[in-house]
Amino acid sequence: MIKFWYHKYQLNPILPVRANVQLRPRDGALLKVRWANGWVGYADLFPWPEFGDASIEDQLYALAKAQVSQIAEQSIWLAKRDAQLRFKQKNAFDGASKLRNHFLIPDHGRCTDTQIKEIRNAGFETVKIKVGSDLDADLHFVQKIIRQHPLNVRLDFNSKLKFQEFENFIKQFTSHDMKKIEFIEDPCPWDFVAWYEASKMAPIALDFEYDRVNWGALDPTPFKYVILKPSRNDVDLTVQRAQAHKLKIVVTSSMDHPVGVMHSLSVAADLKRDHPDLLCDTIGCLSLSVYRSNEFNREIKTQGPFILSTIGSGIGFDSILERLEWTEIRR
Ligand code: MG
Repeated sequence: MIKFWYHKYQLNPILPVRANVQLRPRDGALLKVRWANGWVGYADLFPWPEFGDASIEDQLYALAKAQVSQIAEQSIWLAKRDAQLRFKQKNAFDGASKLRNHFLIPDHGRCTDTQIKEIRNAGFETVKIKVGSDLDADLHFVQKIIRQHPLNVRLDFNSKLKFQEFENFIKQFTSHDMKKIEFIEDPCPWDFVAWYEASKMAPIALDFEYDRVNWGALDPTPFKYVILKPSRNDVDLTVQRAQAHKLKIVVTSSMDHPVGVMHSLSVAADLKRDHPDLLCDTIGCLSLSVYRSNEFNREIKTQGPFILSTIGSGIGFDSILERLEWTEIRR
C-alpha cells in the first residue's frame, strides 16, 4: 500500500510575489511517499489559492480521503521519479545538461536600473516580467528594458487584460521593440477569437488558461509556447500536445519550495535529453530568490542563470529530508 507523510512549511517572500499583493508567508507541505516495494520519494505540494487551488490543509485532508487534486497527483508523480533515483542512489542532475533560466521580475515597481545591470552582469539573457496591474507603468518599464539593455523579455499578464487593453498596449511598441519580446503569456482570459487576434500582434504563450483550451478544436493554434509547470501539469500529455500543435515548451517552477524547484529542473533536463527540439533553451525554474533563503537553498549550487546541482540522491537534500519531522497521513 502507498503511504504518505507531510511536513508543513512556510515560504517568506522577500518581495510581493505579484504586484499589489501583500507580503505574507505562503503555506505548503513537503510530501514523503512510500510505495509497497519500499521505494521512498519526496515532492513539494504548494497550492496557489489565488488561482483556485484548495488550501494546503484542504489538500492534505483530501489526500487522507484518497481524493487527489491535480497538484497532489503531480506531487505523487514527481515523488515517484525521485524514489526511482533514490533507489539507484543516483542524483537527478548527474550528467544533465546545463539549462539557462530567465530572471523573474515579479514586481517591476521595485526594480532599479542598478538591479537590471546586475541581472545582465550575472549572465542572464532574458527577463520575465509580471505585468497587468498598472499598464502605464508596465509600458514604461518594458520599453526602458528593451531599449536600454541587451535583454530579451517575456511578459506575463496572468489573464488580467481585456482584448482591447492588450491591443492598445501592444501598439505602443515599435517593430524593433517587438523583436525583443519573445512572448506574452496569458494576455487575457481564454477565448479563441481574442487569442487568435492577439497572436497576430505578438507570439503568445499559454500558462494558467491551459485547462480551458479545447485542444481537439484548435484551428489554428493561437499560441506558440506552452508553459509547463511539472508541479501542476501532466508532463507526458503536455509533450504530446506540444508535438501535435508545434509548440515550444517552457518549463517553469511554480514559484514553490526548493524541492519543487529542483523537481521542475529535473523534468526540464529530461525533456532536453529526450525532446531537445521541443524545449525552449531558456527555462524558468530559478525562482529561489523570491523567498527568504532556508536550509534547502544552501544545498543548491547556482551560477548566474544556471542551477547546477544539489547534494544527495534523487533531487537531493537527503540529510535535511531525513531529519525533518514527518506526520503520517492516515486514511
Ligand atoms: Mg504565467
